Amino acid sequence: MQSLLDIPRGARSLLKGMGVTIRHFFRKPVTVEYPRKRAPVAKAHRNAIVLIEKDDIGSHNCIACLQCEKICPSACISITGSRPDGIAFKRPDKFDVDFALCSDCGLCLDVCPTDTLGYSEVYDAAGYSRADSKFDLLEAWRDKEGEALGTLRERERKKKEEREAKRKAAEEAKAKAAAKEKAEGKEDDKTGNGTAAS
Ligand code: SF4
Ligand code: SF4
Repeated sequence: MQSLLDIPRGARSLLKGMGVTIRHFFRKPVTVEYPRKRAPVAKAHRNAIVLIEKDDIGSHNCIACLQCEKICPSACISITGSRPDGIAFKRPDKFDVDFALCSDCGLCLDVCPTDTLGYSEVYDAAGYSRADSKFDLLEAWRDKEGEALGTLRERERKKKEEREAKRKAAEEAKAKAAAKEKAEGKEDDKTGNGTAAS
């Protein structure tokens, strides 16, 4: 008798289970077929740092100030830079990072004055030796450096022109004010003389 009662209970349980299966069968999958497809990386995810493009120059905007190198607690950043002709700031010649030492603390991103450091979307880099974890962050940008320098020089030239125009305008305004003051002084003298005569 008990086993007869178990039949509808078992059937109900079976249908419930099938319902869950069927519901999920028509849902969008939440998994991806890695490594053929890659899951999107959340913005808050911290991983290998990279130099990021600044739209206004079409390349990174590292000015080789070395602030990231100095603040890095793991001493894994190594940068050298020089100032190209016609540009007010330096550009890096070397920007190496040893990711075997990096702790993803984010301090380098915090101090960067040009916000040109960011996290990459790489989360599965691997290698066979410690040397494989050393990366040249400028590698991705070398082809664009010439164009970026052109844009920066043009920007610098415009700034210089603006500064010169402002300086001239200030000088002209000063000269006008001095002339006006002088003219008013002469007028006062004349008025003063007239009063004394009467
Ligand atoms: S995230 Fe931290 S440890 Fe890594 S390079 Fe930047 S400052 Fe150094
Ligand atoms: S702090 Fe920013 S601008 Fe300065 S060297 Fe590092 S990446 Fe370049």
